[in-house]
Amino acid sequence: MGSLLVENVILDDQKTSIYCNNGKIVSIGEDCNADEIFDGCGYIVHPALNNSHTHAAMTLFRGNGDDMPLMEWLQTRVWPYEQNISSEEVYWGTKLAITEMIRSGIVFFNDMYWDFHAVAKAVEETGIKACLSAVFIDFDDPVQAKSQQKTNERLHIEAKDYSDRITFGVGPHAIYTVSEDSLRWAGEFTREHNLKLHIHLSETEYEVKECVKTHSCSPVEYLKRTGMLSDRLAAAHTVWLSERDIGLLGDYGVLTINNPVSNMKLAVGEVYPYRKLKDAGAVTAIGTDGAGSNNNLDLFEEMKIAALLQKFKENDPTALPAGEAIEMATINPSNFFGLNNGQIKPGSAADFILIDVQRPEMQPMHNLTSHLVYSANGYAVDSVICDGRLLMKHRKIENEEEIMEGAYRAAKNLFARVDKAK
Ligand SMILES: [Zn+2]
Repeated sequence: MGSLLVENVILDDQKTSIYCNNGKIVSIGEDCNADEIFDGCGYIVHPALNNSHTHAAMTLFRGNGDDMPLMEWLQTRVWPYEQNISSEEVYWGTKLAITEMIRSGIVFFNDMYWDFHAVAKAVEETGIKACLSAVFIDFDDPVQAKSQQKTNERLHIEAKDYSDRITFGVGPHAIYTVSEDSLRWAGEFTREHNLKLHIHLSETEYEVKECVKTHSCSPVEYLKRTGMLSDRLAAAHTVWLSERDIGLLGDYGVLTINNPVSNMKLAVGEVYPYRKLKDAGAVTAIGTDGAGSNNNLDLFEEMKIAALLQKFKENDPTALPAGEAIEMATINPSNFFGLNNGQIKPGSAADFILIDVQRPEMQPMHNLTSHLVYSANGYAVDSVICDGRLLMKHRKIENEEEIMEGAYRAAKNLFARVDKAK
């Protein structure tokens, strides 16, 4: 990996340069000889964003099944196609998602999807970072449970062949799609190997009611019972929570991921209890969820909507201030996933973005934090550096046309094939 000098950028209101080597920021404001010199053209430097929950390849499902109830959408517009999706289609869908994420300043995503190797290949080729978990669903079937456990044990070993930008995680989909035996296995296996866990948790009232009916406790309590609660657990949604649930998520230091757009689009009927989770000690983060339920992967939009929804719900305009929304998309997930990228300083990972403030919606420049959350969207990102490499140079990404063409063909083939077989 060569060294990179990003010159002529603004950091803390000063014009400076950033020297990166071996994936790290080595020095700021010093003259250094680098293999590559990039003119930052006076753009503002900001830590890159981390997307804590998505299903990248679901870009293929974008706009196909909006305005529908969650279960009907999954059963008619998602699962029949996912059962037939090929590795190649997952690969192209993931590449499209990564291109979109890079365009809006994201350098890391926490993913849960089918076909681990197809997703990993897309991550490797594009230069982004990711924690990848293969979807783990066994529908309470002991045969499927065993086979899924074996698959994850195998993937854990195979994942070591990829670069350090890829981390393997275990992704039991949700408490209602995974057996108790497999949840216990996932808790145990990830503890033994110090791996992250990724699950959908307390997303709907139905999920909570069914859990109380079947297990006589809430989904969070059920995860405690099965040994899944830990500071390695990333839990998406976490909206239908009791005070006791919030206390448990805090006690264990669980990463709780707010997905406001997906929650509102699918009308889950509750709002992520941001302040309570933070005060209890849970880690707070923001994710886009998949493009099937968002429908874009723009974390700038997600920060704004997260902040607005908290204010509306709490009837309090001071709820979730802009600076904290940014922390939920930068430093908080960075600490949880061990990314070392939420700050611009020597020794940090060389993961940062250049923001163009010479845009009408970014002027006048009273307050950058405010503008980033309430005014900007992904289009304000001019360039993206990940692991000391330029992934987007002045809005240009390598092979972008080929990726869009590949994803278009993949979506067309998948839907034509499955619809024909119906
Ligand atoms: Zn999800």
